[in-house]
Amino acid sequence: MAVTVYIGLGSNLAEPLQQLASAVVALSMLPQTTLLAQSPFYRSSPVGPQDQPDFINGAVQLSTTLAPLALLDALQVIEQDQGRERLQHWGPRTLDLDLLLYGNDVIEHERLHVPHRELCNRDFALQPLLDLNPELSLPDGRMLRDLRDQCPDNHLQRLEPTGSDTPPWP
Ligand code: AMP
Repeated sequence: MAVTVYIGLGSNLAEPLQQLASAVVALSMLPQTTLLAQSPFYRSSPVGPQDQPDFINGAVQLSTTLAPLALLDALQVIEQDQGRERLQHWGPRTLDLDLLLYGNDVIEHERLHVPHRELCNRDFALQPLLDLNPELSLPDGRMLRDLRDQCPDNHLQRLEPTGSDTPPWP
């Protein structure tokens, strides 16, 4: 049975726009998975240490029959393939992939928390999800648009596509 899932993407190192575009391609090639839609990308201020570049963020909507932990494994392989280094908590990274929502499931596992624990506090994760589906809600019924309106401002700036080197938009 296929489930609709949402993946958050972030990068602030090594050509972030290219990192996200490559990640979308890799996500579209996952087994048992179809890429349904891709959000616009946003520039956001870093959370935590401020002496690092701004982040580029986005999200994709997938349909998959992969189980949650198999999907997490696949996301981590893509992160590693794109040279992610974890030098500092909340520090710069070439690619961060978060499993934000897995259908309406609530998952509490030592390796995986869904909905993602920080989703409610991050406009740079909530806004791309709302671009994909303005009616999205958490499994407990809270509307994502209400959470977005309440959460801290990370100076989100929507990036408009400018040329042939930008990724396709939904
Ligand atoms: P981060 O450095 O923020 O990408 O955190 C990576 C760690 O978070 C990994 O060890 C994952 O097992 C764990 N994790 C827990 N929940 C999630 C989730 N929903 N999406 C991605 N990673 C998660």
